[in-house]
Amino acid sequence: MWNGSMPRIACVSAALAIACCSVPASAGERPNIVFIFSDDHAVRAVSAYGDSLVKTPNIDRIAASGVRFDRAYVGNAICGPSRATLLTGMHSHANGFYSNEWSGPFDGEQQTLSNLLQGAGYQTAVIGKWHLYSDPVGFDHWEVIDNLFEQGSYYNPTFRSPAGVEEATGYVADLVTDKSIAWLQQAKAGDRPFFLLYNHKTPHRDWLPGPQELRDWDEDARMEEPDTLFRDLGDQTRARREARMRIEDYMTDMDVKLSMGGSLTPEQEALWQQAFAEGNQQYESSDLTPEQDLRWKYQRYIKTYAASVKSMDRQIGRLLDYLESSGLMENTIVLYSSDQGFFLGENGWFDKRWMDEVSSRVPLLMAWRGHIQPGSTSDALVQNIDFAPTLLDAAGVTPKQPMHGVSLLPLVEENPPPWQRDLYYHFYENPGFHGVARHYGIRTERYKLVYYYQNNEWELFDLVTDPEDQVNLYGKPGYEAITADLKLRLQQLRTQYQVPETDPEVPWYHGLLIRAFERLMMWL
Ligand code: CA
Repeated sequence: MWNGSMPRIACVSAALAIACCSVPASAGERPNIVFIFSDDHAVRAVSAYGDSLVKTPNIDRIAASGVRFDRAYVGNAICGPSRATLLTGMHSHANGFYSNEWSGPFDGEQQTLSNLLQGAGYQTAVIGKWHLYSDPVGFDHWEVIDNLFEQGSYYNPTFRSPAGVEEATGYVADLVTDKSIAWLQQAKAGDRPFFLLYNHKTPHRDWLPGPQELRDWDEDARMEEPDTLFRDLGDQTRARREARMRIEDYMTDMDVKLSMGGSLTPEQEALWQQAFAEGNQQYESSDLTPEQDLRWKYQRYIKTYAASVKSMDRQIGRLLDYLESSGLMENTIVLYSSDQGFFLGENGWFDKRWMDEVSSRVPLLMAWRGHIQPGSTSDALVQNIDFAPTLLDAAGVTPKQPMHGVSLLPLVEENPPPWQRDLYYHFYENPGFHGVARHYGIRTERYKLVYYYQNNEWELFDLVTDPEDQVNLYGKPGYEAITADLKLRLQQLRTQYQVPETDPEVPWYHGLLIRAFERLMMWL
């Protein structure tokens, strides 16, 4: 058993490279829980995971004081469904929230993490992005960002709460943090443990950095391009060829800051102009080749994405500082994760949705002083269905009905149990933005098998030799037995999770509306 007084030696093993121990909390010492949840934050943009395109010193503090899960995934890489899974510990088909576009509102009366913790006496709150088209249930306090698609604005967002609607002034990450610290101060005064879901909008599209990053903007700085930025997908599956995700074709002027989005105060607008106006003039007076144009858009994209991450990371630091200075950190589990990953120029793409590593893999960091060894890592295959069971386990709360996920706490014990597991993935949102075909698949220790069932196409990847899903081995000689085994295991997962054979009906006109909206966005 590890405790805080023992030497801090990272105990990394090959199979379940994890730290030492966890002690289930007794009723008298139930831990507080702060879940820091961001939006579209790819692993490649978290410096705790090594070579990163942006430094995240504050998020890294959680990794340094706890465990870093190196193979954490979501089961459906799109915003609302991932959030519904966080709350329920269930895959999309079981919690009813399949799609951002046609599944809402989320049924908060079903068994959820918040309902169970609230019922067990926890003080509960969700502050920030919600994106489930419903009023939060199971939360004593909620203030969620709001607008037509529940994305909220980077600057001067609208918050919705039981008290009504508030038109706030400021940068969203700062405001969400202000409100979260205020709630923590109040919760600290209570005599019951608390659960805070601290949900950032950042770094979701359209990647608008905070005031400090606008002041610090360096138009001439250049970030490294991914090897596959100019990849020709002509020989790939129809699913990949038909996706509408290419930076060169589908990024809007607002995305690349050629036009200003949102409603800014004069001071905010001055900062925006200071950062981008001169570079925009140069761009508009240049006669760029298509290759140069893609390079320019990529730089604007990746630099504003990275700057947005920095703006958020600074605010996360402020909240962590409060937990430390208030003494709350001594008995608080702090987690960091994102609702999914993101394409940061790989395949020439932006956005998410795919079962590919860059979009379905997420950062997952968990610190719990005295229970998880600082600086430890795990390469166990884990998924967002596990978040709720893990936190309920830590709180000593038993779900009334079984969840799809399992507690990850055994993985932080001194002698973790064997961890043999296949992961199930299912993306449903087609027709939908970006035109990604519906697919389901299996991720095992080594392989990934994906079925695009609308097109009857398959992909098989060997993630040891091909960690970025670039070489489709399906149908290649020598892979017959592996493929047959994976198909069997995939079917076993579908049976285990009771996945329906048919998907929900989508209105016939939905695809037309989406295409019209996409064109409108490009035109604006
Ligand atoms: Ca998202």
